[in-house]
Amino acid sequence: MSKYALIIDYKYCTGCHTCEVACRKEKGLPVEEYGIKVTKQGPVKLGGAWMYDYVPIPSSLCDMCEDRIEAGKRPACVHHCLGACMTAVPIEKIGETVSGKGEKVVCFIP
Ligand code: SF4
Ligand code: SF4
Repeated sequence: MSKYALIIDYKYCTGCHTCEVACRKEKGLPVEEYGIKVTKQGPVKLGGAWMYDYVPIPSSLCDMCEDRIEAGKRPACVHHCLGACMTAVPIEKIGETVSGKGEKVVCFIP
């Protein structure tokens, strides 16, 4: 298990796929593989309200860019996210990081 977590405040995710491209370039992955994938939820009407969200989900190839983090840099996906909605934090800092962010926040620990 990684020592770091990827927190995504997906209410600000635009579905631009830049994180996918940044990860593939950073890891040298072929086009048919990915370290993170943007999924689409909806559009669907739930409880009388429309839901339509993009949620990026890391794959088994994600290693949290620990080499970049150890070098003092942010993971490639976090660095290039156009919505500035991704954060990488040590797992012991998950609680304080998500506190106050409100709804539509997910946390992944690869
Ligand atoms: S943390 Fe690194 S390996 Fe994981 S999805 Fe982001 S760019 Fe890819
Ligand atoms: S780069 Fe950021 S805004 Fe774009 S799809 Fe990925 S998480 Fe969403």
